[in-house]
Amino acid sequence: MYQTTAALRSAFLEYFRTNGHQVVDSSSLVPVNDPTLLFTNAGMNQFKDVFLGEDKRSYTRATSSQRCVRAGGKHNDLDNVGYTARHHTFFEMLGNFSFGDYFKREAIGFAWNFLTKELKLPKERLCVTIYETDDEAYDIWTKEIGVPAENLIRIGDNKGAEYASDNFWQMGDTGPCGPCSEIFYDHGDHIWGGRPGTPEEDGDRFIEIWNIVFMQYNRQSNGDMLPLPKPSVDTGMGIERIAAIMQGVHSNYEIDIFQALIKKTAEILAVTDLENKSLRVISDHIRSCAFLIADGVMPSNEGRGYVLRRIIRRAVRHGNKLGATDSFFYKLVPTLIEVMGDAAKGLIATQAIVEKSLKAEEEQFARTLERGLGILDGALNELKGDVLDGETAFKLYDTYGFPVDLTADVCREREITVDEAGFEVAMAEQRRRAQAAGQFDTDYNESLKIDEQTHFSGYTELTASGKVIAIYKAGEPTDSLTAG
Ligand code: ATP
Ligand code: MG
Ligand code: MG
Ligand code: MG
Repeated sequence: MYQTTAALRSAFLEYFRTNGHQVVDSSSLVPVNDPTLLFTNAGMNQFKDVFLGEDKRSYTRATSSQRCVRAGGKHNDLDNVGYTARHHTFFEMLGNFSFGDYFKREAIGFAWNFLTKELKLPKERLCVTIYETDDEAYDIWTKEIGVPAENLIRIGDNKGAEYASDNFWQMGDTGPCGPCSEIFYDHGDHIWGGRPGTPEEDGDRFIEIWNIVFMQYNRQSNGDMLPLPKPSVDTGMGIERIAAIMQGVHSNYEIDIFQALIKKTAEILAVTDLENKSLRVISDHIRSCAFLIADGVMPSNEGRGYVLRRIIRRAVRHGNKLGATDSFFYKLVPTLIEVMGDAAKGLIATQAIVEKSLKAEEEQFARTLERGLGILDGALNELKGDVLDGETAFKLYDTYGFPVDLTADVCREREITVDEAGFEVAMAEQRRRAQAAGQFDTDYNESLKIDEQTHFSGYTELTASGKVIAIYKAGEPTDSLTAG
Protein backbone atom coordinates (compact mmCIF):
# COMPACT_ATOMS: atom_id res chain seq x y z
CA MET A 1 0.00 0.00 0.00
CA TYR A 2 1.11 3.54 -0.82
CA GLN A 3 4.27 2.33 -2.45
CA THR A 4 4.93 5.54 -4.32
CA THR A 5 5.48 8.93 -2.80
CA ALA A 6 2.72 10.32 -5.01
CA ALA A 7 0.24 7.78 -3.64
CA LEU A 8 1.26 8.66 -0.11
CA ARG A 9 0.65 12.34 -0.75
CA SER A 10 -2.86 11.62 -2.00
CA ALA A 11 -3.58 9.29 0.91
CA PHE A 12 -2.58 11.92 3.45
CA LEU A 13 -4.70 14.67 1.91
CA GLU A 14 -7.62 12.29 1.51
CA TYR A 15 -7.42 11.15 5.13
CA PHE A 16 -7.66 14.71 6.40
CA ARG A 17 -10.26 15.67 3.83
CA THR A 18 -12.55 12.93 5.10
CA ASN A 19 -11.89 14.28 8.59
CA GLY A 20 -13.33 17.67 7.68
CA HIS A 21 -10.22 19.46 6.41
CA GLN A 22 -10.15 21.75 3.40
CA VAL A 23 -7.45 20.60 0.97
CA VAL A 24 -5.37 23.70 0.15
CA ASP A 25 -2.78 23.91 -2.64
CA SER A 26 0.86 24.39 -1.79
CA SER A 27 1.80 28.06 -1.84
CA SER A 28 4.82 29.43 -3.72
CA LEU A 29 8.36 28.97 -2.42
CA VAL A 30 8.56 32.75 -2.45
CA PRO A 31 6.59 33.77 0.64
CA VAL A 32 3.54 35.74 -0.41
CA ASN A 33 3.03 38.04 2.53
CA ASP A 34 6.13 37.73 4.66
CA PRO A 35 9.17 39.79 3.67
CA THR A 36 11.08 38.50 6.72
CA LEU A 37 11.15 34.97 5.33
CA LEU A 38 13.74 33.90 2.74
CA PHE A 39 11.79 30.92 1.38
CA THR A 40 8.66 29.08 2.41
CA ASN A 41 9.99 26.58 4.94
CA ALA A 42 6.86 25.10 6.53
CA GLY A 43 3.24 24.32 5.75
CA MET A 44 2.02 26.93 8.22
CA ASN A 45 3.67 29.87 6.41
CA GLN A 46 0.73 30.52 4.12
CA PHE A 47 -1.60 30.45 7.15
CA LYS A 48 0.46 32.77 9.33
CA ASP A 49 -2.08 35.59 9.26
CA VAL A 50 -4.92 33.18 9.97
CA PHE A 51 -3.12 31.99 13.11
CA LEU A 52 -2.50 35.62 14.09
CA GLY A 53 -6.21 36.34 13.69
CA GLU A 54 -5.49 38.92 10.98
CA ASP A 55 -7.01 36.88 8.16
CA LYS A 56 -10.14 34.77 8.01
CA ARG A 57 -10.88 31.74 5.87
CA SER A 58 -14.12 30.01 5.09
CA TYR A 59 -12.78 26.88 6.86
CA THR A 60 -11.28 26.16 10.28
CA ARG A 61 -9.46 22.95 9.30
CA ALA A 62 -6.98 22.71 6.45
CA THR A 63 -4.53 20.22 5.01
CA SER A 64 -1.77 20.65 2.43
CA SER A 65 1.39 19.25 0.93
CA GLN A 66 3.64 22.29 0.98
CA ARG A 67 6.86 22.58 -1.00
CA CYS A 68 9.57 23.92 1.28
CA VAL A 69 13.15 25.05 0.87
CA ARG A 70 15.56 25.15 3.80
CA ALA A 71 18.76 26.48 2.32
CA GLY A 72 19.34 29.72 4.11
CA GLY A 73 17.93 31.94 6.82
CA LYS A 74 16.89 30.52 10.17
CA HIS A 75 16.41 26.98 8.90
CA ASN A 76 19.36 26.03 6.74
CA ASP A 77 19.86 22.37 5.87
CA LEU A 78 22.13 22.92 2.85
CA ASP A 79 25.20 21.65 4.68
CA ASN A 80 23.35 18.55 5.87
CA VAL A 81 22.71 17.38 2.32
CA GLY A 82 24.95 14.45 1.51
CA TYR A 83 25.74 13.96 5.19
CA THR A 84 22.43 12.85 6.73
CA ALA A 85 19.80 10.41 5.49
CA ARG A 86 16.94 12.80 6.19
CA HIS A 87 17.71 16.38 5.17
CA HIS A 88 17.05 18.05 1.84
CA THR A 89 17.22 21.59 0.59
CA PHE A 90 13.79 21.01 -0.99
CA PHE A 91 11.13 18.79 0.54
CA GLU A 92 7.38 18.55 0.82
CA MET A 93 5.76 19.04 4.18
CA LEU A 94 2.45 17.29 4.69
CA GLY A 95 0.38 19.14 7.25
CA ASN A 96 -2.95 19.50 8.96
CA PHE A 97 -4.05 22.71 10.62
CA SER A 98 -6.72 23.77 13.06
CA PHE A 99 -7.57 27.45 13.27
CA GLY A 100 -9.21 27.63 16.69
CA ASP A 101 -11.08 24.41 15.94
CA TYR A 102 -9.71 21.15 17.43
CA PHE A 103 -6.77 21.01 19.82
CA LYS A 104 -4.42 18.50 21.47
CA ARG A 105 -6.67 15.47 21.79
CA GLU A 106 -7.81 15.44 18.16
CA ALA A 107 -4.45 16.47 16.72
CA ILE A 108 -2.68 13.62 18.52
CA GLY A 109 -5.46 11.20 17.60
CA PHE A 110 -5.37 12.12 13.89
CA ALA A 111 -1.61 11.69 13.66
CA TRP A 112 -1.54 8.40 15.55
CA ASN A 113 -4.42 6.95 13.58
CA PHE A 114 -2.94 7.94 10.26
CA LEU A 115 0.40 6.35 11.09
CA THR A 116 -0.79 3.20 12.81
CA LYS A 117 -4.17 2.50 11.14
CA GLU A 118 -3.90 3.99 7.63
CA LEU A 119 -0.20 3.30 7.11
CA LYS A 120 -0.10 0.40 9.59
CA LEU A 121 3.27 1.35 11.05
CA PRO A 122 4.26 -0.90 13.96
CA LYS A 123 3.60 1.01 17.22
CA GLU A 124 6.68 -0.33 18.93
CA ARG A 125 8.87 1.48 16.39
CA LEU A 126 7.41 4.86 17.30
CA CYS A 127 8.50 7.08 20.13
CA VAL A 128 7.11 10.46 21.05
CA THR A 129 8.46 13.63 22.58
CA ILE A 130 6.46 16.22 24.48
CA TYR A 131 7.38 19.53 26.04
CA GLU A 132 8.75 18.95 29.53
CA THR A 133 5.85 20.60 31.38
CA ASP A 134 3.04 19.58 29.04
CA ASP A 135 1.20 17.14 31.30
CA GLU A 136 -1.94 17.47 29.23
CA ALA A 137 -0.16 15.99 26.19
CA TYR A 138 1.52 13.40 28.42
CA ASP A 139 -1.86 12.18 29.66
CA ILE A 140 -3.38 12.03 26.18
CA TRP A 141 -0.45 10.02 24.83
CA THR A 142 -0.24 7.61 27.73
CA LYS A 143 -3.83 7.21 28.91
CA GLU A 144 -5.88 7.73 25.74
CA ILE A 145 -3.54 6.58 22.97
CA GLY A 146 -1.74 3.99 25.08
CA VAL A 147 1.87 4.84 24.26
CA PRO A 148 4.00 3.17 26.97
CA ALA A 149 5.61 5.72 29.31
CA GLU A 150 9.10 4.51 28.34
CA ASN A 151 8.45 5.60 24.76
CA LEU A 152 7.48 9.10 25.83
CA ILE A 153 10.28 11.61 26.23
CA ARG A 154 10.00 15.02 27.89
CA ILE A 155 12.09 17.67 26.14
CA GLY A 156 12.65 21.19 27.40
CA ASP A 157 14.20 24.29 25.83
CA ASN A 158 17.61 22.69 26.31
CA LYS A 159 19.34 26.01 26.29
CA GLY A 160 23.06 25.30 26.52
CA ALA A 161 22.60 21.52 26.39
CA GLU A 162 24.84 19.47 24.12
CA TYR A 163 21.88 18.32 22.06
CA ALA A 164 19.75 20.63 20.03
CA SER A 165 16.15 19.55 20.34
CA ASP A 166 13.78 22.19 21.51
CA ASN A 167 10.12 21.42 22.03
CA PHE A 168 8.74 24.89 22.35
CA TRP A 169 7.70 26.61 19.15
CA GLN A 170 7.28 30.32 18.54
CA MET A 171 6.51 32.36 15.48
CA GLY A 172 8.64 35.28 16.64
CA ASP A 173 9.70 37.10 19.78
CA THR A 174 6.05 37.89 20.42
CA GLY A 175 2.82 36.32 19.21
CA PRO A 176 1.45 32.77 19.07
CA CYS A 177 3.61 30.06 20.58
CA GLY A 178 3.30 26.78 22.39
CA PRO A 179 4.62 23.33 23.17
CA CYS A 180 5.33 20.67 20.52
CA SER A 181 5.03 16.94 20.37
CA GLU A 182 7.17 15.08 17.84
CA ILE A 183 6.85 11.53 16.57
CA PHE A 184 10.04 9.59 15.79
CA TYR A 185 10.55 6.30 13.96
CA ASP A 186 13.23 3.85 15.07
CA HIS A 187 15.00 2.49 11.99
CA GLY A 188 16.82 -0.13 14.08
CA ASP A 189 19.96 -0.60 16.11
CA HIS A 190 22.12 -1.31 13.07
CA ILE A 191 22.06 2.45 12.47
CA TRP A 192 23.97 4.90 14.60
CA GLY A 193 21.97 7.37 16.66
CA GLY A 194 20.20 7.87 19.96
CA ARG A 195 16.71 8.72 21.12
CA PRO A 196 15.67 12.37 21.10
CA GLY A 197 17.00 14.22 24.09
CA THR A 198 20.29 12.32 24.13
CA PRO A 199 23.63 13.55 22.79
CA GLU A 200 23.43 10.98 19.95
CA GLU A 201 20.04 12.22 18.71
CA ASP A 202 21.62 13.74 15.60
CA GLY A 203 22.33 10.27 14.26
CA ASP A 204 19.92 8.74 11.77
CA ARG A 205 18.57 5.84 13.82
CA PHE A 206 15.60 7.69 15.34
CA ILE A 207 14.21 9.91 12.62
CA GLU A 208 11.71 12.62 13.38
CA ILE A 209 8.76 12.18 11.09
CA TRP A 210 5.98 14.40 12.42
CA ASN A 211 6.02 17.60 14.41
CA ILE A 212 2.80 18.75 16.07
CA VAL A 213 2.64 22.28 17.43
CA PHE A 214 0.02 23.29 19.95
CA MET A 215 -0.39 27.04 19.69
CA GLN A 216 -1.86 27.98 23.01
CA TYR A 217 -0.19 31.18 24.22
CA ASN A 218 0.29 34.69 22.96
CA ARG A 219 3.65 35.98 24.13
CA GLN A 220 3.64 39.68 25.04
CA SER A 221 6.58 42.03 24.58
CA ASN A 222 7.14 41.99 28.36
CA GLY A 223 7.47 38.18 28.19
CA ASP A 224 4.05 37.40 29.66
CA MET A 225 2.34 34.39 28.13
CA LEU A 226 -1.39 34.93 27.84
CA PRO A 227 -3.59 31.98 26.92
CA LEU A 228 -4.97 32.22 23.37
CA PRO A 229 -8.77 32.36 23.44
CA LYS A 230 -8.91 29.81 20.61
CA PRO A 231 -5.87 27.52 20.66
CA SER A 232 -4.74 26.21 17.26
CA VAL A 233 -2.77 23.35 15.77
CA ASP A 234 0.00 23.30 13.17
CA THR A 235 1.62 20.05 12.11
CA GLY A 236 4.30 19.04 9.62
CA MET A 237 5.52 15.71 8.32
CA GLY A 238 8.25 15.41 5.69
CA ILE A 239 6.84 13.28 2.89
CA GLU A 240 10.26 11.87 1.93
CA ARG A 241 10.84 10.60 5.48
CA ILE A 242 7.52 8.81 5.73
CA ALA A 243 7.94 7.53 2.14
CA ALA A 244 11.26 5.97 3.16
CA ILE A 245 9.53 4.05 5.96
CA MET A 246 6.69 2.95 3.67
CA GLN A 247 9.12 1.85 0.98
CA GLY A 248 11.09 -0.17 3.52
CA VAL A 249 14.31 1.81 3.22
CA HIS A 250 16.31 3.85 5.68
CA SER A 251 17.59 6.86 3.76
CA ASN A 252 15.33 9.33 1.98
CA TYR A 253 17.68 9.00 -0.98
CA GLU A 254 16.51 5.44 -1.46
CA ILE A 255 12.87 6.37 -2.18
CA ASP A 256 11.34 6.33 -5.66
CA ILE A 257 11.81 10.04 -6.38
CA PHE A 258 15.49 10.13 -5.52
CA GLN A 259 16.30 6.78 -7.09
CA ALA A 260 14.90 7.99 -10.40
CA LEU A 261 16.94 11.20 -10.21
CA ILE A 262 20.08 9.38 -9.11
CA LYS A 263 19.77 6.83 -11.91
CA LYS A 264 19.21 9.53 -14.50
CA THR A 265 22.22 11.51 -13.31
CA ALA A 266 24.35 8.36 -13.31
CA GLU A 267 23.19 7.58 -16.83
CA ILE A 268 24.01 11.07 -18.15
CA LEU A 269 27.42 11.13 -16.49
CA ALA A 270 28.19 7.43 -17.03
CA VAL A 271 28.70 6.80 -13.33
CA THR A 272 28.41 3.19 -12.19
CA ASP A 273 28.53 3.55 -8.40
CA LEU A 274 24.99 4.57 -7.49
CA GLU A 275 26.00 5.06 -3.85
CA ASN A 276 28.23 7.98 -4.78
CA LYS A 277 27.53 10.91 -2.47
CA SER A 278 27.69 13.47 -5.27
CA LEU A 279 24.76 11.73 -6.98
CA ARG A 280 22.71 12.32 -3.84
CA VAL A 281 23.68 15.95 -3.65
CA ILE A 282 22.79 16.53 -7.31
CA SER A 283 19.46 14.73 -6.95
CA ASP A 284 18.67 16.95 -3.99
CA HIS A 285 19.79 20.19 -5.59
CA ILE A 286 17.86 19.74 -8.85
CA ARG A 287 14.64 19.77 -6.85
CA SER A 288 15.27 23.05 -5.03
CA CYS A 289 16.74 24.74 -8.10
CA ALA A 290 14.00 23.69 -10.51
CA PHE A 291 11.16 24.52 -8.14
CA LEU A 292 12.68 27.86 -7.15
CA ILE A 293 12.93 28.92 -10.78
CA ALA A 294 9.40 27.63 -11.42
CA ASP A 295 8.28 29.92 -8.58
CA GLY A 296 9.99 32.91 -10.18
CA VAL A 297 13.42 33.07 -8.52
CA MET A 298 16.27 33.67 -10.98
CA PRO A 299 19.98 33.17 -10.32
CA SER A 300 21.54 36.50 -9.35
CA ASN A 301 24.09 38.05 -7.06
CA GLU A 302 21.85 38.93 -4.17
CA GLY A 303 19.07 37.76 -1.94
CA ARG A 304 17.03 34.74 -2.97
CA GLY A 305 18.66 34.66 -6.39
CA TYR A 306 22.09 34.29 -4.82
CA VAL A 307 20.96 31.36 -2.69
CA LEU A 308 19.69 29.73 -5.88
CA ARG A 309 22.96 30.48 -7.69
CA ARG A 310 24.93 28.94 -4.84
CA ILE A 311 22.91 25.73 -4.97
CA ILE A 312 23.24 25.45 -8.76
CA ARG A 313 27.00 26.01 -8.56
CA ARG A 314 27.37 23.39 -5.86
CA ALA A 315 25.48 20.91 -8.06
CA VAL A 316 27.66 21.77 -11.05
CA ARG A 317 30.78 21.26 -8.95
CA HIS A 318 29.57 17.82 -7.88
CA GLY A 319 28.90 17.01 -11.54
CA ASN A 320 32.44 18.07 -12.38
CA LYS A 321 33.67 15.77 -9.64
CA LEU A 322 31.84 12.91 -11.34
CA GLY A 323 33.55 13.75 -14.61
CA ALA A 324 30.94 15.92 -16.36
CA THR A 325 32.40 17.58 -19.42
CA ASP A 326 29.20 19.18 -20.62
CA SER A 327 26.03 20.71 -19.17
CA PHE A 328 24.05 17.99 -17.43
CA PHE A 329 22.02 19.55 -14.63
CA TYR A 330 19.13 20.90 -16.70
CA LYS A 331 18.68 17.47 -18.30
CA LEU A 332 17.22 16.17 -15.02
CA VAL A 333 14.10 18.33 -15.24
CA PRO A 334 11.98 15.87 -17.30
CA THR A 335 12.71 13.07 -14.82
CA LEU A 336 11.85 15.38 -11.94
CA ILE A 337 8.51 16.19 -13.54
CA GLU A 338 7.79 12.50 -14.02
CA VAL A 339 8.37 11.54 -10.40
CA MET A 340 6.79 14.48 -8.62
CA GLY A 341 3.21 13.62 -9.60
CA ASP A 342 0.64 16.23 -8.61
CA ALA A 343 3.35 18.40 -7.06
CA ALA A 344 4.90 19.03 -10.50
CA LYS A 345 2.08 21.17 -11.92
CA GLY A 346 3.93 24.48 -11.68
CA LEU A 347 7.08 22.91 -13.03
CA ILE A 348 5.33 21.52 -16.10
CA ALA A 349 4.01 24.98 -16.92
CA THR A 350 7.48 26.54 -16.69
CA GLN A 351 9.63 23.66 -17.92
CA ALA A 352 11.19 25.50 -20.86
CA ILE A 353 12.27 28.51 -18.81
CA VAL A 354 13.52 26.33 -15.97
CA GLU A 355 15.71 24.27 -18.30
CA LYS A 356 16.99 27.33 -20.14
CA SER A 357 17.91 29.18 -16.95
CA LEU A 358 19.67 26.18 -15.45
CA LYS A 359 21.61 25.57 -18.64
CA ALA A 360 22.68 29.20 -18.95
CA GLU A 361 23.84 29.31 -15.34
CA GLU A 362 25.69 26.05 -15.74
CA GLU A 363 27.47 27.19 -18.88
CA GLN A 364 28.46 30.49 -17.34
CA PHE A 365 29.98 28.84 -14.28
CA ALA A 366 31.68 26.12 -16.31
CA ARG A 367 33.96 28.79 -17.81
CA THR A 368 35.72 29.47 -14.52
CA LEU A 369 35.06 26.27 -12.59
CA GLU A 370 38.05 24.25 -13.80
CA ARG A 371 40.56 27.01 -13.20
CA GLY A 372 39.10 27.82 -9.81
CA LEU A 373 39.20 24.18 -8.78
CA GLY A 374 42.82 23.99 -9.94
CA ILE A 375 43.74 26.95 -7.77
CA LEU A 376 41.86 25.57 -4.78
CA ASP A 377 43.48 22.20 -5.22
CA GLY A 378 46.90 23.80 -5.34
CA ALA A 379 46.19 25.80 -2.19
CA LEU A 380 44.91 22.72 -0.36
CA ASN A 381 47.94 20.67 -1.35
CA GLU A 382 50.26 23.29 0.07
CA LEU A 383 48.17 23.92 3.16
CA LYS A 384 49.74 23.52 6.55
CA GLY A 385 47.07 22.88 9.16
CA ASP A 386 43.38 22.41 8.50
CA VAL A 387 42.06 25.92 7.80
CA LEU A 388 42.03 27.51 4.36
CA ASP A 389 42.84 31.23 4.56
CA GLY A 390 40.18 33.85 3.82
CA GLU A 391 42.27 35.51 1.09
CA THR A 392 42.24 32.40 -1.08
CA ALA A 393 38.52 31.85 -0.47
CA PHE A 394 37.94 35.47 -1.43
CA LYS A 395 40.01 35.19 -4.60
CA LEU A 396 37.99 32.14 -5.62
CA TYR A 397 34.80 34.07 -4.96
CA ASP A 398 35.84 37.27 -6.64
CA THR A 399 37.64 35.93 -9.68
CA TYR A 400 36.16 32.50 -10.28
CA GLY A 401 32.61 32.92 -8.99
CA PHE A 402 32.96 30.38 -6.16
CA PRO A 403 30.41 31.15 -3.44
CA VAL A 404 32.22 30.69 -0.14
CA ASP A 405 29.99 27.78 0.86
CA LEU A 406 31.05 25.97 -2.33
CA THR A 407 34.70 26.39 -1.38
CA ALA A 408 33.78 25.13 2.09
CA ASP A 409 31.98 22.14 0.55
CA VAL A 410 35.13 21.14 -1.37
CA CYS A 411 37.29 21.71 1.72
CA ARG A 412 35.03 19.65 3.95
CA GLU A 413 35.67 16.61 1.79
CA ARG A 414 39.29 16.92 2.90
CA GLU A 415 38.40 17.75 6.50
CA ILE A 416 39.48 21.34 6.08
CA THR A 417 37.48 24.38 7.14
CA VAL A 418 37.49 27.88 5.66
CA ASP A 419 38.47 30.96 7.62
CA GLU A 420 35.12 32.65 6.97
CA ALA A 421 36.00 35.63 9.19
CA GLY A 422 39.11 36.15 7.05
CA PHE A 423 36.93 35.90 3.95
CA GLU A 424 34.65 38.62 5.31
CA VAL A 425 37.66 40.85 6.02
CA ALA A 426 38.91 40.44 2.45
CA MET A 427 35.41 41.17 1.17
CA ALA A 428 35.12 44.32 3.31
CA GLU A 429 38.55 45.44 2.11
CA GLN A 430 37.45 45.07 -1.50
CA ARG A 431 34.34 47.12 -0.79
CA ARG A 432 36.45 49.81 0.84
CA ARG A 433 38.72 49.96 -2.18
CA ALA A 434 35.75 50.03 -4.50
CA GLN A 435 34.27 52.96 -2.58
CA ALA A 436 37.55 54.84 -2.60
CA ALA A 437 37.82 54.24 -6.33
CA GLY A 438 34.22 55.44 -6.66
CA GLN A 439 35.31 58.89 -5.57
CA PHE A 440 37.27 59.13 -8.76
CA ASP A 441 34.30 58.12 -10.84
CA THR A 442 35.75 54.80 -11.85
CA ASP A 443 33.60 51.71 -11.75
CA TYR A 444 36.08 49.56 -9.91
CA ASN A 445 33.71 46.60 -9.86
CA GLU A 446 33.63 46.50 -13.61
CA SER A 447 37.34 45.91 -13.84
CA LEU A 448 37.11 43.07 -11.34
CA LYS A 449 34.81 40.98 -13.45
CA ILE A 450 37.49 39.14 -15.25
CA ASP A 451 35.33 36.12 -15.86
CA GLU A 452 33.35 38.26 -18.25
CA GLN A 453 34.72 38.92 -21.69
CA THR A 454 37.73 41.21 -21.59
CA HIS A 455 37.33 44.09 -23.99
CA PHE A 456 40.17 44.57 -26.34
CA SER A 457 40.72 48.28 -26.46
CA GLY A 458 43.12 48.54 -29.32
CA TYR A 459 46.14 47.18 -31.00
CA THR A 460 49.21 48.86 -32.28
CA GLU A 461 52.21 47.37 -33.88
CA LEU A 462 55.48 49.14 -34.10
CA THR A 463 57.98 48.61 -36.86
CA ALA A 464 61.54 48.13 -35.90
CA SER A 465 62.00 51.80 -36.52
CA GLY A 466 59.19 52.67 -34.12
CA LYS A 467 56.62 53.68 -36.71
CA VAL A 468 53.00 52.65 -36.14
CA ILE A 469 51.90 50.49 -39.02
CA ALA A 470 48.49 49.20 -37.94
CA ILE A 471 45.81 50.37 -35.57
CA TYR A 472 42.39 48.88 -35.05
CA LYS A 473 39.81 48.85 -32.29
CA ALA A 474 38.25 45.82 -30.73
CA GLY A 475 34.97 44.88 -32.30
CA GLU A 476 36.09 45.67 -35.80
CA PRO A 477 36.48 42.67 -38.00
CA THR A 478 40.15 42.06 -38.63
CA ASP A 479 39.77 42.16 -42.40
CA SER A 480 38.98 45.86 -42.15
CA LEU A 481 42.48 46.47 -40.94
CA THR A 482 43.97 49.39 -42.60
CA ALA A 483 47.68 49.88 -42.72
CA GLY A 484 48.66 53.30 -41.54
P1 ATP B 1 15.17 17.72 12.10
O1 ATP B 1 15.23 17.82 13.62
O2 ATP B 1 15.25 16.32 11.60
O3 ATP B 1 16.13 18.66 11.44
P2 ATP B 1 13.07 19.66 12.26
O4 ATP B 1 12.66 19.52 13.69
O5 ATP B 1 14.01 20.75 11.93
O6 ATP B 1 13.68 18.26 11.71
P3 ATP B 1 10.46 20.66 11.62
O7 ATP B 1 10.82 22.09 11.55
O8 ATP B 1 9.79 20.18 12.86
O9 ATP B 1 11.77 19.78 11.34
O10 ATP B 1 9.60 20.29 10.32
C1 ATP B 1 8.52 19.37 10.33
C2 ATP B 1 8.87 18.10 9.58
O11 ATP B 1 9.40 18.36 8.29
C3 ATP B 1 9.94 17.26 10.26
O12 ATP B 1 9.39 16.46 11.28
C4 ATP B 1 10.48 16.42 9.10
O13 ATP B 1 9.65 15.31 8.85
C5 ATP B 1 10.38 17.38 7.91
N1 ATP B 1 11.66 18.06 7.63
C6 ATP B 1 12.22 19.10 8.29
N2 ATP B 1 13.36 19.51 7.71
C7 ATP B 1 13.53 18.70 6.63
C8 ATP B 1 14.52 18.65 5.61
N3 ATP B 1 15.55 19.50 5.56
N4 ATP B 1 14.40 17.70 4.65
C9 ATP B 1 13.35 16.83 4.68
N5 ATP B 1 12.39 16.84 5.62
C10 ATP B 1 12.46 17.77 6.58
MG1 MG C 1 15.97 20.73 11.35
MG1 MG D 1 13.72 18.29 15.10
MG1 MG E 1 10.67 19.29 14.52
